Amino acid sequence: MSSITQGSYPPVLQDAERERLVQVVKDWTVAHGLTVRPPPAIAGNDAEGILATSAPVTLFPSPFPKSCFEEAKAIQTTYNDLYALISQDEEFLTEMVKEVADGDEFIANLWNVHLRVKKEGYVQNLALGLFRSDYMVHQDESSLQIKQVEFNTIASSFGGLSTQTSLLHKHLAQHEYPLLSFSAFATNLDLPSNDSAAGLAAGLRAAFDAYGPSTLGHPTCVLFLTQSGERNVFDQRHLEYALSSSGSVPVFRLPFSEILTHTTIAPTAQRQLIYALPSNPSLVFEVAVVYLRAGYGPGDYPTQQAWEARYQIERSNAVCCPTVLTQLAGMKKVQQVLATPEESNTNSVPSALAKFMSPTSEKTQRLLKTFTNIYPLDTSPSGLHARALATSPTGCQKYVMKPQREGGGNNFYRSAIPEQLKTIPEEHWNSFILMEIIEPPALANSILRNGAVEQGGVICELGVYGTCLWDQSSGEVKFNEEAGYLLRTKGDKSEEGGVAAGYGCMDSVALV
Ligand code: ADP
Ligand code: MG
Repeated sequence: MSSITQGSYPPVLQDAERERLVQVVKDWTVAHGLTVRPPPAIAGNDAEGILATSAPVTLFPSPFPKSCFEEAKAIQTTYNDLYALISQDEEFLTEMVKEVADGDEFIANLWNVHLRVKKEGYVQNLALGLFRSDYMVHQDESSLQIKQVEFNTIASSFGGLSTQTSLLHKHLAQHEYPLLSFSAFATNLDLPSNDSAAGLAAGLRAAFDAYGPSTLGHPTCVLFLTQSGERNVFDQRHLEYALSSSGSVPVFRLPFSEILTHTTIAPTAQRQLIYALPSNPSLVFEVAVVYLRAGYGPGDYPTQQAWEARYQIERSNAVCCPTVLTQLAGMKKVQQVLATPEESNTNSVPSALAKFMSPTSEKTQRLLKTFTNIYPLDTSPSGLHARALATSPTGCQKYVMKPQREGGGNNFYRSAIPEQLKTIPEEHWNSFILMEIIEPPALANSILRNGAVEQGGVICELGVYGTCLWDQSSGEVKFNEEAGYLLRTKGDKSEEGGVAAGYGCMDSVALV
């Protein structure tokens, strides 16, 4: 067994050693684009948009069980297939939306976009998923297992920075850790390679190629829809550069709020999406792929115009990553239904999962092992059981309550659950789910954030990326790959783990 599992990790640093390591990390991260736009508290308002700073990152890779890492990577293509199937099952998604839409206007509005396009008929059958399945390690009496936190179907971020983080830790392992007075641990670090940036770009490339040449005689392009004021812009840039260098694919960034200003739908039966370059509107492109790094939360839809913009994208001929249906497949409600067995037989494969996968197949059994207990908060028997837990000051302590939202900062943990439920009319409780909190084995690390080192207990969350391109009408899967990983680490006192939301930091795995 490696020395990094024997209680001496990470090594205790002398002050001068820490200073040196911090300086190396600060310079390496800026030199290699492991960076974010600085928070206003540090940068002022940076009106010129010229500043970049190191993304928060651990000084050492975190120990991660090799068997768990390999299993998470091995099942990703099965997860891709499952979510491609869910995206194609409109009837199932109708049921899911019905469950939550009364108490959730955002989901209702998304559904409405789908219904409007369905009415006139979709022109594009291809759909692209750049997914990320997130896990924590759970320790039971006999073994370590990965348990799924959530499955992301829209704007799965950090694939760009993640490749750089693996390279940073490899650099440190090769050139810096051997210089530490406590250096024994560094000689046998098992640091796997991580091609997340290239892997995600390959997914976008597959969709771009499948779209084919413009029938209108324009050059084709990929359009990244972004949030204004995005601080995590370099993560997105890494994907863009990996894609544009893979055989000169034109890639453009357009704020979600400017869709209707700079794109139009061609007046043809095929409804091509036309993008006029803002800097030179006589240069016109046909958009082959729309990649949403925005549009996943209500904040991106301040007006009815924003919903019209989403409708314009959805009804166009561009391949959407994701479509509205694929975005909705990522609802926490879907994850809950897949994981909740029928009351009568808690050992059986949940019928929702059995709809999509053979209950006896080995693949199904492997996915099932990644599920943890998740309950509805409705009036079904398991919903009533969950309501009793969620409203009890002791019962709630092992749970997190989640709405149908993405992007961090939306969940309620432990004691906050009964308080929150008091503020919500009971008839809207079913737009939330209740999930058992996964408690991974204790670890320690040092986090460099905004120039300061935070040292102590940490919790790690592994994400595995997957890319999938399929045909919504025939069901044919044209591309299905596992696409690298993300390790995010947060202080063990923090409930939320999002790097962009300011709670977590970038990390990489040292396999043990
Ligand atoms: P979001 O869509 O906002 O990212 P998540 O479901 O990923 O929502 O939850 C946000 C964070 O909360 C996770 O990254 C994780 O740190 C923590 N979390 C969520 N669910 C659990 C759970 N069941 N056990 C432990 N931590 C959790
Ligand atoms: Mg998450």
